[in-house]
Amino acid sequence: MEPPPAATASRGAARVTLAGLRKVYDGGQVAVHGVDLDVAPGEFVVLVGPSGCGKSTTLRMIAGLEAASAGRVAIGDVDVTATPPADRDIAMVFQTYALYPHMTVRENLGFALRLRGRPRADVAARVAAAADTLGLTPLLDRRPRALSGGQRQRVAIGRAIVREPRVFLFDEPLSNLDAKLRVQMRREIAALHRRIGATTIYVTHDQVEAMTLGDRIVVMRAGRVEQVATPAALYARPATACVAAFVGSPPMNLLRGTVDHRAGTFVVADADALAVALPPALLASPALTAVAGHELLLGVRPEHVRVAATADPCTTGPCTADAAASTLPMRVDLVEPLGHELLVHARRGAAELTARLAPNASLPGPGGAVRLAFDPAALHVFDAATGAVLARGTVDR
Ligand code: ADP
Repeated sequence: MEPPPAATASRGAARVTLAGLRKVYDGGQVAVHGVDLDVAPGEFVVLVGPSGCGKSTTLRMIAGLEAASAGRVAIGDVDVTATPPADRDIAMVFQTYALYPHMTVRENLGFALRLRGRPRADVAARVAAAADTLGLTPLLDRRPRALSGGQRQRVAIGRAIVREPRVFLFDEPLSNLDAKLRVQMRREIAALHRRIGATTIYVTHDQVEAMTLGDRIVVMRAGRVEQVATPAALYARPATACVAAFVGSPPMNLLRGTVDHRAGTFVVADADALAVALPPALLASPALTAVAGHELLLGVRPEHVRVAATADPCTTGPCTADAAASTLPMRVDLVEPLGHELLVHARRGAAELTARLAPNASLPGPGGAVRLAFDPAALHVFDAATGAVLARGTVDR
């Protein structure tokens, strides 16, 4: 007797290549402006970005559900740009599970295989293997209405697995689940990928989902790719202010202002034009010299902001920033004790800063004065007009 086929992509994961992929919908709206992307065999790549940035359109073009207006899609070494979805050797899992309500879990899992005329024994074996992988065996005779949201999503994933595709496409698969179940399913999808090793392209608007699942993340905005990087690189070295603001919770602080090269400071426009010192290495960056006078954004992550002193500098002396120490006098807006850490949100004028502190940090209450200090090695400077990064601190975090 032949052993049952494993619920794995045994035929090998495929490379997926997008070249100049573009979509213009009827009516002339450019949804995707020309995306280039190379997904390695077995890689888990996440497309992430705010709603409407073109993630789903890109995925649907990879699936063949949406025709590309220009550019190419290749799966393996085969150009599939004009290939119908059914012949692309892909399987897609949707946000709405799209299960057949009148079929049992077993029938739902096996449907695509039966449709392709696979032998009954082969279908049964593959369904059994997928059900085992996903913990669905006790539910095989139930109909979808008798399943929880998480179980339905598991069936939807199982339906993709049984086909042993060379590429898995996921379109916001966890959006309909509650927060706790989302975390659990996220773990299951990660474990499944480790086991199966199929090339996976996954769309989400949730940056935490992207960071926890992706080998690499593609951040999209307004139909364009902002950055492609590993989660760690995306966090430490965002290429644009939008990426910096999108990744991380709370996100990177961004202060509007200009560089005063003579004084060696950043003048914070929204904070009464107070100045904070910039480290010499940052100031020496040619990209910063080239934009003298331009409006810039100074970026610093909440964990690189600390409390320097709680005395009110405006009552104890002249109301100045301590430029030498890269500090800003501000007022506490809100303190959020989260147990494992404490978030303090402070402002001065229209400038806002969030600091991530130890849970036992001593702080004044709302309205109190606080002097916030930046780790100079952890500063990023972006061009306010283009959003592009111009310089960042010396420590490669
Ligand atoms: P995302 O998945 O990032 O939310 P989409 O790819 O769904 O973004 O949409 C990108 C842009 O294309 C949006 O502005 C959206 O309104 C538009 N769009 C999506 N589908 C269609 C369609 N079928 N016809 C016209 N415009 C569309």
